[in-house]
Amino acid sequence: MPKRVALYPGTFDPMTLGHLDIMKRASRLCDRLVIGVAINRDKGPLFTLEERVEMVEHVVNPFRSRIDVEVRPFEGLLIHFVEQCGASMIVRGLRAVSDFEYEFQMAGMNDRLNPDIETVFLMADPQYQTIASRLVKEIARLGGDVSPFVTPEVEQRLKEKFT
Ligand code: ADP
Repeated sequence: MPKRVALYPGTFDPMTLGHLDIMKRASRLCDRLVIGVAINRDKGPLFTLEERVEMVEHVVNPFRSRIDVEVRPFEGLLIHFVEQCGASMIVRGLRAVSDFEYEFQMAGMNDRLNPDIETVFLMADPQYQTIASRLVKEIARLGGDVSPFVTPEVEQRLKEKFT
């Protein structure tokens, strides 16, 4: 049986409990999960690429007892990266209607670029629906409690960034 390879791409600046939930659920859909950390210079991330990779690495070990997991930085066209990874599906999380428009377009364009690759959407768990990296950073910058939104390790890193 060929291995089912899924790619979950994102900026993960920083990784939140919402991202972690999608990773967990995606790990049940495939034999190998590649978590692609976008270099994304345009977005001017708060955390360096190395830090963003480390934050993801920190949480994926439990999945490794069941499937192969690789955390891999990438730059450039997503569909090229998908092909390089040998993945047959792109996993994305869908929160509110606001995610839909962008994700719908991306999935459609990627399908035109390579129709063999399927984009799979996982609905955000209601308890993580409203979590967004952008807002987590804003709350941390203003000295608020981010513990309901991120892992303790990410919380510590945010504290260090803003002190
Ligand atoms: P990108 O730059 O690709 O939007 P993000 O790190 O913001 O990177 O998000 C990566 C993926 O995770 C996207 O599909 C996004 O919709 C999804 N995602 C982000 N936050 C959540 C959340 N709280 N619950 C479920 N999915 C989420």
